[in-house]
Amino acid sequence: MSFLKQINPFENALKQFDKAAEILQLDENQIAMIKEPRRITEVNLPVQMDDGSIRIFKGFRVQHSIIRGPAKGGIRFHPEVTVEEVKALAFWMTYKCAVVGVPFGGGKGGVVCDPSKLSRTELQNLARRYFAELSDMFGPDQDVPAPDVNTNPQIMSWMFDTYSMHKKRFIPAVITGKPLELGGSEGRTEATAQGMVYCVREAVDHLGFGLKGAKVAIQGFGNAGSHAAKLLSEDGAIIVAISDISGAYYNPEGIDIDAALETCRQNEVWTLEGLEKNTRVEKMDDPMKLLELDVDILIPAALENQITEANAPNVKAKLIAECANGPVTPEADEILEKKNVFIIPDILCNAGGVTVSYLEWVQNRMGYYWTKERVNEDLERIMVKAFDEVLETSKKYQVNMRIGAFILAIGRVTKAAELRGLYA
Ligand code: GLU
Repeated sequence: MSFLKQINPFENALKQFDKAAEILQLDENQIAMIKEPRRITEVNLPVQMDDGSIRIFKGFRVQHSIIRGPAKGGIRFHPEVTVEEVKALAFWMTYKCAVVGVPFGGGKGGVVCDPSKLSRTELQNLARRYFAELSDMFGPDQDVPAPDVNTNPQIMSWMFDTYSMHKKRFIPAVITGKPLELGGSEGRTEATAQGMVYCVREAVDHLGFGLKGAKVAIQGFGNAGSHAAKLLSEDGAIIVAISDISGAYYNPEGIDIDAALETCRQNEVWTLEGLEKNTRVEKMDDPMKLLELDVDILIPAALENQITEANAPNVKAKLIAECANGPVTPEADEILEKKNVFIIPDILCNAGGVTVSYLEWVQNRMGYYWTKERVNEDLERIMVKAFDEVLETSKKYQVNMRIGAFILAIGRVTKAAELRGLYA
């Protein structure tokens, strides 16, 4: 296991919570109601492999909170996913939904597996078994999953189908991030990146520079990172570096993002492998050095704990837009704050995904579907409002944007908990 994984993301999440709770002067009872996850479930999932053998995969679902609405959050398929990571991700979902004001609590799922090493049938069997095993937890009013790292609309379709077959009814609102053909929403695929772009536009305005000609480095080229690269380059930004598991690629003049997307499409699995053969880029010796490049905007769009006390002193970007969840550790936060780096925190920056998930859930429940323009109009309005409210809160309490976002969100969850009171 790598050094990075040894940093416990849930402990980091709680440190963020504690700072904001202290400023809000929450008492012990208020904290007890909203800090720890409500329910943690672990399952062993037997799956028949193509060679006839049976393999057991570990799966988790954590419901952090159902105070403001059904638990909401994606399902991650990753060989190194742990329950502590899923707890942190579920926690962040609670506060993410509260920051943007969508009526959900927080949840997250994980399955310990490497999907690139599974056949399509094996992947389908695993996805179905996970959903069947936990089907009592899920439901449009209980817990509504979605895609996350290494899961996609096809996997959502299998999970939706499994649930609907069990219940003997068509129930699209049990899961979001579905394909359009099965009740998915226009704009959902690019929503995380699109929401980030709305925040970045506000942030560069606030900081007094423009997106046109701004130099950008993006770590991660999955759903969030690849759409981020495309959308920002359309806004006139110069994407000088991108990376994924195959390595980091750099061109100070700007990378041809269409060539990068084409490379991913042509590879058997979605990676940038071989990009240096298709367009003018240099493959960096150390992919982590992407985070230290001399750029205006840095976008971590991969996993947690990427910017730590070890590399934060070398970060040169003026603005960090956290497309990933938890990419900056609390220790790195302090270093970056001293360096005057403006961070759009994950629970605000990447909330576009869950916001359009909410719009998808609404459309599913009324059975009427909106155009992409309509969806993006709502997304922009919600993201810009949330950005403004977080900025205002951070000014009011004289704290950075992350603590500002937590103060805003914790205030909303606490208020809802108080209004509901305790069921005997
Ligand atoms: N996995 C995404 C996130 O971390 C989306 C969750 C959702 O749409 O429920 O925010």
